Amino acid sequence: MRIILIGPPGAGKGTQSQHLARSLGIPHISTGDVLRREVSANTSLGQSVQQFISHGRLVPDEVMLKIVQHRLAQPDCASGFLLDGFPRTVVQANQLQTFLEAHNLQLNGAIEIQVETKELLRRLTVRLRADDRPEIIQERIAIYQRETQPLLDFYRHKNQLHVIDGHGTVEKVFHALLTAIDALPNRRQPTAACA
Ligand code: AMP
Repeated sequence: MRIILIGPPGAGKGTQSQHLARSLGIPHISTGDVLRREVSANTSLGQSVQQFISHGRLVPDEVMLKIVQHRLAQPDCASGFLLDGFPRTVVQANQLQTFLEAHNLQLNGAIEIQVETKELLRRLTVRLRADDRPEIIQERIAIYQRETQPLLDFYRHKNQLHVIDGHGTVEKVFHALLTAIDALPNRRQPTAACA
């Protein structure tokens, strides 16, 4: 399975992705986690992206593409992957599409987790991440609306978008996600190597 999870900050993508990846037996690729690891290890990549993350801004597309291409070429992606936090712009979505086509691979679907802004704000203010300060939260939500929401049309036009309600308990949302995933095309097709 090759699945993309899309949703605003606070929609529960991280938590749900972990459960889903375990249940589907595919790697969970969170670009936010990859970047945060680089920042804590103080690598040159980490140093170059730190300012973007701490201000809630998007890391440039070309940097993200290199990270994702490298990750998707790892052997564990041969069985598929769950992308959490990538793509986040239409440019990234096109780049991912080009990568997949070049490797003769197809996406099974993109799933949007919908949560009202009021609820996002409530959830994010009780989280303890450095980029969850109120002014940064507002910025990240605004960037999501401006840069990431156009992705929904990108995948809708390809008939690949599935929307689920992200309100309610983790279990309820997880169940809705599994139901959506079970209905995706090519559910049981064998997966080829990513690279
Ligand atoms: P996340 O954990 O997905 O909320 O990501 C945390 C931060 O990492 C974001 O606010 C961005 O600064 C950066 N980031 C993660 N994924 C991407 C991406 N696909 N494109 C650009 N920036 C990203």
